[in-house]
Amino acid sequence: MSDKYKTLLLFGAPGSGKGTQGKMLGKLPGFFHVACGDVFRAIDLNSEVGKVFLQFSSKGELVPDDFTIRLWKEHIEKLVHTKRFRPDQDVLVLDGIPRNIHQAQMLDDHIEVWKLIVLRVIHNRAEVVRRLKSRALKENRLDDANDKTIENRLEVYDHESRPVLEYYPTDYRVDVDALQSPIEVAHDVLSAILGRTQEMHAIEFPSVAAK
Ligand code: ADP
Repeated sequence: MSDKYKTLLLFGAPGSGKGTQGKMLGKLPGFFHVACGDVFRAIDLNSEVGKVFLQFSSKGELVPDDFTIRLWKEHIEKLVHTKRFRPDQDVLVLDGIPRNIHQAQMLDDHIEVWKLIVLRVIHNRAEVVRRLKSRALKENRLDDANDKTIENRLEVYDHESRPVLEYYPTDYRVDVDALQSPIEVAHDVLSAILGRTQEMHAIEFPSVAAK
């Protein structure tokens, strides 16, 4: 048997609702959710590691890959060690990682992708910006606080993260319309997990940063 973690990747632009859906899945028996952004945000921001995170995230940029994967790996190993995550029983639900092809390659040593669920915000950049700003207020998030940082985050998604979709075989992938209400998105995500795929699968994925 493979010792890689059986993994469901939740993928989508900032503001597409990965965190909301990931948390929901993480509450179900047999699923364990880890959001890469949460791993970073749990670090003391005055520590050296915390300062590196702030330096990049406050500009809407990705934290360097080696640093990110090392931190992610340490975090998961701690969860396994403390038996909160049980890889022999639970599917790992990852959100926010991998965010570029290099990270996807680095993760290949550790994860076996079982499903790739893509939360799509089609031609509605205004809704994405609205969600990010509303979250900035509620969660005190520096990276969503101003227009320039948001713009940069969407550009980074388009240029660095979106190509990750081509990295994985299309038969693992199901696309879900993330502009529906959270409960409708949850319905489609669960249907995707249960194998009832949507016809959206075939539609081309448009640029979220495009105006
Ligand atoms: P969102 O869900 O809105 O896309 P996250 O909470 O996942 O935001 O990430 C917040 C910030 O943390 C990112 O803008 C980036 O600076 C950093 N970050 C999170 N995940 C990664 C990653 N896999 N690689 C590099 N940087 C990351």
